[in-house]
Amino acid sequence: MMAWWKHLALWKKIFIGLCLGLVVGLLFKDVALMLKPVGTLFLNMIKMLIVPLVFVTLVTGITSMEDLTKMRRIGLKTFSIYLVTTAIAVAIGLAFGIIFEPGSGVALANDATVAAKKAPPLIDTLLALIPSNPMDSLVKGDILQIIVFAIFLGVSINLAGEKGKPVAAFFESFSETMFKMTEIVISFAPIGVFGLMAWVSASYGVDVLMSLAKVIACVYVASIVHMAFTMGGAISVFARLNPLKFFKGVASAQTVAFTTTSSSGTLPVTTSNTIHNLGVSKPIASFVLPLGATINMDGTAIYQGICAMFVAQAFGVDLGFADYITIILTATLASIGTAGVPGAGLIMLSLVLASVNLPLEGIAIIAGIDRILDMARTTVNVTGDAMTAVLVAKSEGELDEKIYNQENVE
Ligand code: ASP
Repeated sequence: MMAWWKHLALWKKIFIGLCLGLVVGLLFKDVALMLKPVGTLFLNMIKMLIVPLVFVTLVTGITSMEDLTKMRRIGLKTFSIYLVTTAIAVAIGLAFGIIFEPGSGVALANDATVAAKKAPPLIDTLLALIPSNPMDSLVKGDILQIIVFAIFLGVSINLAGEKGKPVAAFFESFSETMFKMTEIVISFAPIGVFGLMAWVSASYGVDVLMSLAKVIACVYVASIVHMAFTMGGAISVFARLNPLKFFKGVASAQTVAFTTTSSSGTLPVTTSNTIHNLGVSKPIASFVLPLGATINMDGTAIYQGICAMFVAQAFGVDLGFADYITIILTATLASIGTAGVPGAGLIMLSLVLASVNLPLEGIAIIAGIDRILDMARTTVNVTGDAMTAVLVAKSEGELDEKIYNQENVE
């Protein structure tokens, strides 16, 4: 038994942890609620990795692209793919909302107790991008500011030429060390995922889920459609690679995303999957993934499209074509501004609702099931990051197809 478990691929172990967690949560509620610390322990371990991992890998990602034109090219490709896929994602969300009408017939809960939080104004978000004290950003774990500082630092190291080389070498060695630490932490994922899943299924139960089943179903099916067609399609059409291998390669990251509901938290696993299972070069993975975990949120975009329609229908508000366009634009921006942490999408939803004058009270209803929706959208978010890394690596000739097509994945 022990030997069998030891030789099982990591993604299978994580999946077993997820299924066992679900069963334990539904059957033994009290035991499952006590398992929460197991999940929290795992979450803390991955949180421990985030700041150093994002910082050093992004600096290394840039210093390994000494050639400034190459860096610009890769940056442009990455941003374009992020933007286009996110806009497609909102459109899919809206289409699902319009066709399946998840909000029709929903009896509005007037006793909704969760107050809608306001999203910060856009200008504040933009101004806050530049850290006035980068050490403070590192200490506080402000990922967007850390990214901005890392990009500045990486570019400056390159511009410093010979004199900058020792610093570049230091960061390279530091990021290798962080990758090792990541491997150690990920090996605990099956247990962590088990604890988290048991807690989620025990605290929601079947009743809550049934009452809002239509919204949940819409978000889940739209997520699957976006992953299968938009992402799977892009992998086969643009990169000319087998999409099934892609999904097998990111399975561990998807499972961890599903249970932790944090793209930033899943970043270590996404990075490891992308390099070891999908054959993306380290420089590309180090550049594309930390950025993606922070700004590329296709799942959040789908969710915002569907929830906007849900709120409109539940409150009986008619939306016109111009409203749909406004939703696509704001949801794309809002998903860029959404942090890769649990529940962040719910806060940004207020921005989308406000853009077309929908009642913010709608958020209170969504809040009740947000964790369940967050699980789906975070899974889509990290899959989109990995897909972008594969597309960019392939177009740069930095994808090892032997690794991509291997049979055994972690
Ligand atoms: N939890 C999501 C993520 O980390 C963000 C969101 O709440 O939409 O990707």
